[in-house]
Formats: sequence, structure tokens, C-alpha cells
Amino acid sequence: MFSESKFIMIVGAGPTGLTLARELQRRGVPFRIVERSAEPFTGSRGKGLQPRTQEVLDDLGLIDAFRAAGGEYPELLLHLPDGSKMRRRMDPLHEATAQVPYPNMLMLPQWRTCALLAEGVPVELGVGVTGLKQVEGGVRVTLDSGEITTARYVVGADGGQSTVRKLLGVPFEGETHETERLTIADVRIEGLSRENWHIWPDGQSFKLGLCPLPGTEDFQLTAPPSDLSIDELVSDVGMKVTRIGWTSEYRANMRMVSRYRVGDVFLAGDAAHVHSPAGGQGLNTGIQDAYNLGWKLATGNDRLLDTYEEERLPVAAEVLGISTRLHRAAVDREPGAMNREDPVLRQLSLTYRGGPLAAECRPAPGSVRAGDRAPDAPCGDVTVFDLLRGPHPTLLAFAWPGDLPHAHHIDDPAALAAYDITAPTLVLVRPDNYLGCVTHDPADIERYERSISPI
Ligand SMILES: Cc1cc2nc3c(=O)[nH]c(=O)nc-3n(C[C@H](O)[C@H](O)[C@H](O)COP(=O)(O)OP(=O)(O)OC[C@H]3O[C@@H](n4cnc5c(N)ncnc54)[C@H](O)[C@@H]3O)c2cc1C
Repeated sequence: MFSESKFIMIVGAGPTGLTLARELQRRGVPFRIVERSAEPFTGSRGKGLQPRTQEVLDDLGLIDAFRAAGGEYPELLLHLPDGSKMRRRMDPLHEATAQVPYPNMLMLPQWRTCALLAEGVPVELGVGVTGLKQVEGGVRVTLDSGEITTARYVVGADGGQSTVRKLLGVPFEGETHETERLTIADVRIEGLSRENWHIWPDGQSFKLGLCPLPGTEDFQLTAPPSDLSIDELVSDVGMKVTRIGWTSEYRANMRMVSRYRVGDVFLAGDAAHVHSPAGGQGLNTGIQDAYNLGWKLATGNDRLLDTYEEERLPVAAEVLGISTRLHRAAVDREPGAMNREDPVLRQLSLTYRGGPLAAECRPAPGSVRAGDRAPDAPCGDVTVFDLLRGPHPTLLAFAWPGDLPHAHHIDDPAALAAYDITAPTLVLVRPDNYLGCVTHDPADIERYERSISPI
């Protein structure tokens, strides 16, 4: 469907751009991914992968590599001013279930997430986009090397300062709070236990946090703004820094676009929405954007491509609201501001119900409906996730009496319970593993399959 001159141009090789590259690569869609920076990213930045992101990595065949490289969130160890210590969890550890195989956050530094996603992806480092022009049947892209090339589609996954967004003239609406800052750095500390995330509280706030980063010797340091240097901040709590790596000053910035698509150009990840790091949503939401957009881009189906904005814009608005609420709780020093028990943060309950691709055709649907995430469940020797893994849509036939070509027949009572199904039912699972069409009538499935097909 795409000739060599009709490739997709991905701008930016952060987690969003790299996930999209993986999605296109596994579908055999020609693409280029250009990254302005000459070197891969080195900071720990977004270090938490939410359960839903781990399911995306499972679908991409990458979960084992990520789990081997990462670790679970350690317990907080609060070093109190009177010298005593207190332990607590931001979010209690959850047991894996048949429906939710990855129930907890997985921690690994963002640079390693990017490195794992980039394996085998031909990233063009040191190549920045400087100009865009929509032309008949595509987008003319100017690179800082002087090269001008024409792509079928362009995706701006180029971060909060997005050049693509600015070239499109799409406003980035929201707020920046100049005074609400956080120092973040990757440091090595002499003799500090790596069993816990160490916090030195200061009233309802904190003066220093040191979180051990799995698979490294580093800690991620976080501290509210102060006149002290990083060495001084650490020696102030009786510790010694032996190495300082990546450092950054976070400024509270909560903004999003009102359009995700302008002609043949799309925005994704931080280019479309930036939030407070509170609640660990930014990187995860970017990966989900790419996961939603990838299979749609591969079809070249224009109506389907419109659904990217229709589905993802409301999600960004909700995530922005949640992370801003958590951020305000921290700034206002509310008791329990570090609590992360809200299940919405795990992004498993995110649903596209009622949206343009949710065809719920049953007169009396159960609690799991078109638009919802496909839960995992046992079925014979395998699981539903085993059937879903890969770039294809999947037809599941629950308690279906007759034979149905291309369908996976599922009769396991545990699977019927997981999908809340009590009568013979067909479920067409989208390539990004949300329930697309749920029905008792095969004709609905045929219609739905046509609507999401390549043109
Ligand atoms: C301090 C801090 C802590 C955070 N903690 C968390 C957390 O715990 N959990 C979480 O989910 N998120 C967290 N985030 C957010 C997370 O880091 C971002 O949401 C994530 O990096 C977004 O990924 P992205 O790929 O969209 O953009 P980026 O990672 O910003 O990548 C964009 C890439 O595009 C490149 N680029 C820019 N312009 C051009 C151009 N013109 N041409 C070519 N390339 C270009 C850039 O060099 C960059 O590599 C945190 C962020 C910060 C700042």
C-alpha cells in the first residue's frame, strides 16, 4: 500500500516515536525515524511503566526483556527528623490474576526503556526536522541536513517543545507554574541501601528523595528548589555523592493540544500533552498514543485515522486532570499527597466505550463491553493474551455452537466469566487489544472488519 517514496516520517526517538516505529516495523510499513539529538537519551526521567504499558510491551514481544531489565517499585523509607524511620508504600503491591498478569508498576530508567525499544530500529541520530509543507498526497519535510523529502504521513513525537506542533501552528493550551520546580538528577551515593526509596520528609513535603534505579548503580535524586548544590543537598542528610550524571530542572507544565491531526500530520506523546510527573503518566500515555496510532497508520484508511484524535484526545484530558490533581496535592502539602492507590493510574480501566470504533451490538451487554481493554483469561493450554499477541485483529468466539473460520473458540468458564459472557458471543479484538465489535451476529463482525481494513 505504501510505495518506497510513500514512507511515514516519525519525528523524535523518545518512547513515543520508538513505540510507533516498532508498530510500523512489525507491519512492514516503510518509515523513517529521525532524532535531532546526536546521542541516545541518557536520563532516568519517566521511570515507571504502568500495567497497561506492560501489556503493550507483551503484545510487542518485549515484555521479557523489560522485566529482566527492570524491577518493582521499592518500599518508601522515610528518614524522620528525630532519627527514627518509617516504611510505607505509595501503592500496595497487587497480586497477578488471570485477567491482569502485570498488576504493578515496573521501574526502569527512561534511557533503558528507550534503548530496549530502539533495538533493531534504524533511528537516524543527529537529524532534526526544520520545515513541513502539506502537499498533494503527503507532506514535504525539510531536515536540518538540507535534505528535502516527501512522506505520506508525518508524526510529531518530538516532545514538549515539539517543532512539528509549532510548524503546524497548533496552540499548546494550559498552564506553566514557574515557581513550582523540582530538581532531578541521576547520582551515585556511597553506602546507601538499594532496598528502599529513601525520603527525607520536611513537614508534609520532603527535602530529598533518592530512588534506586534497577539495573544500575544510580539513584534518581529529587528535591524541591533550593540554593544548595546536589552535593550539598546530599551531604545535608549525611550522605556522600560519588558521581553526578544527567540532571534536570522540572518546571510544572500542564498543557495539551486541541487537535491531534492536521491534514496528514499527527501529534503524539509529549508533543500533544505534558503533565506533572506526579502519578507517572506522561511516558505511558505517549506509548499508548503510539499504540493507538500505529495500526491505523498502517491501513492508510483516512476515516480510521480520524479516530486517533477522537479516541486519544479525551484520554489526554483525563490524564492531565488526574496528574494535575496529584501535583496540586503535593504543592499544597496535603496529607496523603504521595498516595498512588487510584486504579485509574494503572491505565487498565481506560476505555474507548461510546467512541467511533466501539460497536457494542448486544441488546443486553455485560460489564465488559466494546471499547474496553481486552482482559487476559485462560483458554485451554494458552491464554487470551497469547492469541492477541502480534499485529493482527483477533476474533474470539465464546461458547459459539458452530464452526467459524478464523475464530478462536473459547469455552473455558473462567474466560467466559472474565469477559462476563453468558450467551454465545463473538468478540472482535482490535490490533491494539481493545474490544472493537461485540455481538451475537457474524454479519456485524464482517461489517466491522471492513471498517478497519486497509484501503
Ligand atoms: C522530571 C520528569 C520526570 C518524569 N517522570 C515520569 C514518570 O515517572 N512516568 C511517566 O510516565 N512519565 C514521566 N515523565 C514524563 C516522560 O519523561 C515524558 O512524558 C516522555 O519522555 C515523553 O516521551 P515522548 O517520546 O513523547 O517525548 P520525548 O521523550 O521528549 O522525546 C522527544 C524526542 O524528540 C526529539 N526531537 C525534538 N525536536 C526534534 C526535531 N525537530 N527533529 C527531530 N527530533 C526532535 C528530542 O530530542 C527527543 O529525543 C517525566 C518527565 C520529567 C521531565
